[in-house]
Amino acid sequence: MTHTFKDLAIFLKKKGFIYPSSEIYGGLAGLYDYGHLGTLLKHNFENVWRDYFLNLNDNSFELETAQIMHHNVFRASGHLANFADPVVKCSACEFTERADHFVEKTTKQRTEGFNPEQLNHLIEKHKLACPQCKKTLAPVTSMNMMFPLNMGVGSTTTAYLRPETAQSPYVNFKLQYELQRKKLPLGLALIGKAFRNEISPRNLTLRQREFTQAELQLFFNPHLVDEHPEFEKVKKYKLRVLLEEDRKKNAVVERTPDELHKKGLPKFYLYHLVKIQQFYFDVFNIPPERFRLYQLDDSEKAFYNKYHFDLEIDLHEHGFTEVGGLHYRTDHDLGGHEKVSKQSMEIFDEESGKRFIPHVLELSFGVDRNVYSLLDLNYHDDKERGNIVLSLPQNVTPFVCGVFPLLKNKEELVALATNIFATLRPHVKCFYDEAASIGRRYARADEMGTKYGITIDFDSLNDQCVTIRDRDSTKQERVPIIKLREFLQKEI
Ligand SMILES: [Zn+2]
Repeated sequence: MTHTFKDLAIFLKKKGFIYPSSEIYGGLAGLYDYGHLGTLLKHNFENVWRDYFLNLNDNSFELETAQIMHHNVFRASGHLANFADPVVKCSACEFTERADHFVEKTTKQRTEGFNPEQLNHLIEKHKLACPQCKKTLAPVTSMNMMFPLNMGVGSTTTAYLRPETAQSPYVNFKLQYELQRKKLPLGLALIGKAFRNEISPRNLTLRQREFTQAELQLFFNPHLVDEHPEFEKVKKYKLRVLLEEDRKKNAVVERTPDELHKKGLPKFYLYHLVKIQQFYFDVFNIPPERFRLYQLDDSEKAFYNKYHFDLEIDLHEHGFTEVGGLHYRTDHDLGGHEKVSKQSMEIFDEESGKRFIPHVLELSFGVDRNVYSLLDLNYHDDKERGNIVLSLPQNVTPFVCGVFPLLKNKEELVALATNIFATLRPHVKCFYDEAASIGRRYARADEMGTKYGITIDFDSLNDQCVTIRDRDSTKQERVPIIKLREFLQKEI
């Protein structure tokens, strides 16, 4: 049973997962709040991400950094000059939209990375007019997407809200390299907010003006880009890729790192492509057919990216949507910071006896988009049950189990249930619910993504067993209270 974007948006608001920010004042476009359940889900995703990516090598560390940054950071990174999106406006009415999206939507032609001239050309060629009033469109212009801030009294300092978290690890690199025993590859991870003044924010948390990124910046020796100690172990793994050469067929082809290596992609890059796909398949059970690694061509990728694959998930109604990327950014960023800050970013690598500016491989994930994807792919409108079932994986779901006394006005049941809840709580993500019928409570638990419902009934008082009901199969099973924790921990 498929659902629409709107079904999901209504559900997420109703259950308090995600809803517009400042809503009592009418909200603000592109800004969302996560309620209780959404916050738990998002934090769980972040923790799973941390566990996985910080453990890929033993020289990775996490940073927590300021979101407001010096304007020179963005001179060095090129954001001040180049971080602009094309805007299309109507010559007669109020219509304004991001021009590449507008053209892509109306012509069905991929326009990622197109400049205003290319977009104007397409608008002319297809005779596109204002979708609202049918009048002529004004020529496409571009708008810088950063948020400037006036800091302090008298506002003499212009600073910016960072448009990507990546610049924070870059400006921290030299110090961290010295502190972490001057060893490469060095991983600096950061989970934090980024801000972009999107022209047309939409689709809930898929395109926001303030969003969370989880990124690992790997600084490495560029002379060793075609090496990775674990490459042999992964070289036969089947990657679901859509290469430039597969575009015409628009079909994913399974290719091994071995095959892709022969096509010129370096081993250090390929190893991480495998780890990323495994993150989606092994950690979140994303159905393979809903996942692909999309290779960007030269016109689409940022000029400093030597290799760039987007991580895409096939969402209901939206189709394949970018949720992250693997970017080989070369020495573009550190080189830029060296020039503007006048501080050397070069290091002396004792192992190779060489002096160089490290290159960067960026593993980038949009946390909000990934959380949205998990919600979208695990949302099922179960007509038989008459409620939504959110079959979220247990590693991210807000609660693994709910504890329910069959009746709330029977003291012995409530006493036993609260006792069980207190015992489980320190070990398993669980909640207690005694309101409404047991059927209603099961339905509520399904909608929260709770995997197990634990019901304490009158038999429990005699046989010291409880009924465990599984969210996905609705199968019920009697388990001795004494074995409950063991059962749940085994299942998790
Ligand atoms: Zn118009």
